[in-house]
Amino acid sequence: MDSERILTQLRSEGYRIAPDYAGADLVVVNTCGFIDSAIEESLDAIGEAIKENGKVIVTGCLGANPQKILEQHPQVLRVTGPHAYDDVLTAVHEYLPPRHDPFLDLVPEQGVRLTPSHYAYLKISEGCNNRCSFCIIPDLRGRLVSRRLDDVLREAERLARAGVKELLVISQDTSAYGSDLRYPEIHWQGETFETRFVDLSRALGTLGIWVRMHYVYPYPHVDAVLPLMAEGKILPYLDIPFQHASPSVLKRMRRPAHAENTLRRIEAWRAICPDLTLRSTFIVGFPGETDAEFEQLLQWLKSAQIDRVGAFMYSPVEGAKANALAEHIPVSVQQERLDTFMQIAQEISAQRLNQKVGSIQTLLIDSVMEDPDQSGEILAIGRTRGDAPEVDGIVEVRGNLDAIRSGSFVEARIVAANDYDLEAVIE
Ligand code: SF4
Repeated sequence: MDSERILTQLRSEGYRIAPDYAGADLVVVNTCGFIDSAIEESLDAIGEAIKENGKVIVTGCLGANPQKILEQHPQVLRVTGPHAYDDVLTAVHEYLPPRHDPFLDLVPEQGVRLTPSHYAYLKISEGCNNRCSFCIIPDLRGRLVSRRLDDVLREAERLARAGVKELLVISQDTSAYGSDLRYPEIHWQGETFETRFVDLSRALGTLGIWVRMHYVYPYPHVDAVLPLMAEGKILPYLDIPFQHASPSVLKRMRRPAHAENTLRRIEAWRAICPDLTLRSTFIVGFPGETDAEFEQLLQWLKSAQIDRVGAFMYSPVEGAKANALAEHIPVSVQQERLDTFMQIAQEISAQRLNQKVGSIQTLLIDSVMEDPDQSGEILAIGRTRGDAPEVDGIVEVRGNLDAIRSGSFVEARIVAANDYDLEAVIE
């Protein structure tokens, strides 16, 4: 998500984003230092970028430990740390100075986005005040620092004016927004808003574009956004990383809101907003997870009917408290549990998508392809209000697509569903 922020800034300065190494003058690698496999992946990505391109700047979590990178890849031009956007941009300016373009420099901001993108990530805070036992993000990124609400709203407004049709609100803990600032009031567009999650949602809901909330925890105050979703002000979508459902596992994980009765809460949310789509991630095979605790997770998933699910086997992270917990689960058992869990998640996804067949849905079109299967037909790929880009499902759209572009909203009838995706026709 930090990548998106860097890209947005670079694009607005007139840089073009190359689709491959060969076409790039410079490569920025955004790394993750969170789990061991991600560190390896990041180091491999840096190695690949050096081999294929040669001019490489590294940023992100792993940048907090430049030694680790430079030992393996001394050719790297610059290493910048986590959320050091300005340092990344300075390094890019240094190694690839922006070309002055008198035409571009005079055009209004919507013209500056050389690679038009109809969705954008809106980061509302950095860091995290939680202390989940499997996570070292608070050590890497520090405590919660919320951005000022007027600053966030100005950025959102600017993006909307520049043609963005969907904002994806992100942070480590979106429901905690403003708690570090003690919820100050601001005045915007003739209204008063407090710097807190619900008012952020209310204010973004006035922009007239899709607003999607990610990384929300199931605290009681979240209930207040459901009416906004039911009224169509923000998307009826919540991305809540539940991670588990057994209270004893959640306690060992030290998860925020671990004592909440999440099933009752989800039921209440769906009563207010029946169209609500829930996305979540889970960890299976956390240290000490018993058969009974895993069974509790499966039963919870069946009851909660989570629409979109990602799941991972627990793996230790260097420096995390969970490493000291007793009874690490063998990988073979973790794998078995992951397969069982994902099988159920897939069945729920298929059933819930199937319920949409026959309905008319508003879709946001992500791309349009001329005759991709040599049938003479145009095919568009879009998403419903229940699908976040890059992580959720897609909708293949056929029919009268002549006036359709990427970034168009269309009304289409859903005609088929599979496990994760939909097909639709514009009538
Ligand atoms: S909420 Fe927990 S998992 Fe997420 S960043 Fe904070 S400590 Fe890590």
